[in-house]
Amino acid sequence: MAREYLKKASKTSKSDASDVHQTVTRILDEIEAGGDRVALDYAAKFDGYEGSVILSQAEIEAAIAQVPEKLRADIRFAHGNVKRFAEAQKATLKDIEIEVVPGLIAGQKSIPVSAAGCYVPGGRYSHVASAIMTVTTAKVAGCKHITACSPPRPGVGINPAIVYAAHICGADTIMAMGGVQGVAAMTFGLFGLPKVNILVGPGNQFVAEAKRILFGRVGIDMIAGPTDSLILADGGADAEIVATDLVGQAEHGYNSPVWLVTDNRALAETVLARVPQLIADLPEVNRDNAAAAWRDYAEVILCADREEMAATSDDYAPEHLTVQAADLDWWLARLTCYGSLFLGEETTVAFGDKASGTNHVLPTSGAASYTGGLSVHKYMKIVTWQRATREGSKPVAEATARISRLEGMEAHARTADIRLAKYFPGENFD
Ligand code: NAD
Repeated sequence: MAREYLKKASKTSKSDASDVHQTVTRILDEIEAGGDRVALDYAAKFDGYEGSVILSQAEIEAAIAQVPEKLRADIRFAHGNVKRFAEAQKATLKDIEIEVVPGLIAGQKSIPVSAAGCYVPGGRYSHVASAIMTVTTAKVAGCKHITACSPPRPGVGINPAIVYAAHICGADTIMAMGGVQGVAAMTFGLFGLPKVNILVGPGNQFVAEAKRILFGRVGIDMIAGPTDSLILADGGADAEIVATDLVGQAEHGYNSPVWLVTDNRALAETVLARVPQLIADLPEVNRDNAAAAWRDYAEVILCADREEMAATSDDYAPEHLTVQAADLDWWLARLTCYGSLFLGEETTVAFGDKASGTNHVLPTSGAASYTGGLSVHKYMKIVTWQRATREGSKPVAEATARISRLEGMEAHARTADIRLAKYFPGENFD
């Protein structure tokens, strides 16, 4: 049986891509030419903010004082889990050193980038957890300077809980600036900041496009734009939990796709009937986001069996992938394209989004077909080195000279010749 769409999306995340590209290119060009002043103009225009951009120690302390102790404890709990997971990731990065030929030793080591810029989204919701995810991993990686940047709320500044999270996770600078202007300020080194070597963190389509355009001048973690989520559910799944989990991810934004893939028509129909009621019960902002996402971007797909379900999921390469089906080990072994996988009803995407320790900055829009999410590894440069004894250099120099001449690269060949002549005088190396 071919896939049957019981609900099909009318839009995709690519629908408005070219307008966004033009807008972001223009803003970046203007800020690069005009510097701090133009960035401030855009902050006033988009976020209605004209206060401090780089938070002083006193402003950080004043913000922290506003965060209730219970919430601080929750942030510390989440930070501890993300830090433990990141430290375990770092431990997998082992330096290597091997004798390639007798007397020639080559090695590989990992060096953290010096300055990291962590974008913490804050337009629609205050993504406190994004501060934990990005700053903690940069700190564990060993970056020397970490800037956390987040949009100010009109006339007020960054949400105090974001300031607290960025501070305890290890940010050296906290910057109240959002969107393209925030990304530009970190890349171009505005407001006295060091120019960052890498930009990390999620954001809306403007932030994601700015990172895409700037990639090359700076490193980026990945394109982490509007969130998407896919649930694989069989006939044994709890339809109420499946529907609740779909709505839980649709609330991210009007353009956040959620997809249900199942081999059970009854489950699909129950979920299709239930989701609109769950959305109607949400507070207004969340309801508007979720309703638009469900109307325009959501899909419900009926497959013949679990193999077709897995193949469908791999085609979508979702950012978040949930399995609510029997035989979780089979799914773990079979699935190959996802940012983060949530196996079984007892866990859910929101756990990973907020507090369970795995990173929530994940590839969107199909990027999970070629990359995983944010990890300590994204901040590390894997570099190589070598050294040799004179004897060890001999066979390599001979081969280098011949290969270089075959390629027509005479000057390369002579860098080998000069060593052979110096170390082995009187020998013939034709
Ligand atoms: P945001 O901080 O990404 O964007 C807010 C900024 O957008 C503002 O500061 C403003 O400068 C800019 N902006 C708004 N309208 C603009 C316009 N017309 N032109 C130019 N710039 C404009 O916050 P957000 O909008 O709430 O988006 C957060 C996004 O992050 C959501 O799409 C969410 O799904 C995503 N997210 C993704 C992940 C992931 O790992 N992939 C994780 C968390 C959140």
